[in-house]
Amino acid sequence: MKTIGLLGGMSWESSLEYYRIVNELVRGRLGGHSSAKCVMYSVDFAEIERFQNAGDWTEAAYVLAAAGQGVQAAGADCLVLCTNTMHKIAGEIISQISIPFIHIADPTAEKIKAAGIQKIGLLGTDFTMSQAFYKGRLVQEHGLDVLIPNEENRATVHRIIYEELVMGEIKPESKEAYIQIINELIADGAEGIILGCTEIGLLVQDGDCDKPLFDTTFLHAEAAVDFALND
Ligand code: GLU
Repeated sequence: MKTIGLLGGMSWESSLEYYRIVNELVRGRLGGHSSAKCVMYSVDFAEIERFQNAGDWTEAAYVLAAAGQGVQAAGADCLVLCTNTMHKIAGEIISQISIPFIHIADPTAEKIKAAGIQKIGLLGTDFTMSQAFYKGRLVQEHGLDVLIPNEENRATVHRIIYEELVMGEIKPESKEAYIQIINELIADGAEGIILGCTEIGLLVQDGDCDKPLFDTTFLHAEAAVDFALND
């Protein structure tokens, strides 16, 4: 088994999920007392969030590339950046490491295509929904059509992530708001929805709407396990 490198803390609420999922999947596949070989570097999210707010992606890239090097030095065979948003600076991190980087959008897109879906709704931080780094990969490299919520709904999705989900707060009224926004995307033609922020799966789950949900946290962690167990 190879060693999975997790670069987390963005937020630690979702890094916990990554840790749980990689271990559950390895135990499920290998049985017995098996668990995932992994190392995790968990950053201080307050520092990263300040860089995001200030638009200082250069400094954020510097911090996360150094952390990625730390994960590699600790013995990881791959790097899993446990956040969608910070994939904005994936290129800068990749340039500083020599182990494979598992991009969160790729296993997600593969699952969507395997389900025969062409038009997909995307929820995430406003950075993820509005900027090209994420949508662009889905469109240009995977040929998907991506729908995002309108401006007012994007603000709601973003606010709930930063004010509640990364703080571990799960509120029924926020779940209702998300389901409403998801249903509007479905009414606009979305055949499924990407939970494109690693905390959204804490709030909405399969069965909350009548189209499939693609939880990036699970799919990313699953891709890491596929990598670790594929000799
Ligand atoms: N975990 C979130 C994501 O997947 C948001 C936190 C962050 O800004 O990194 O985008």
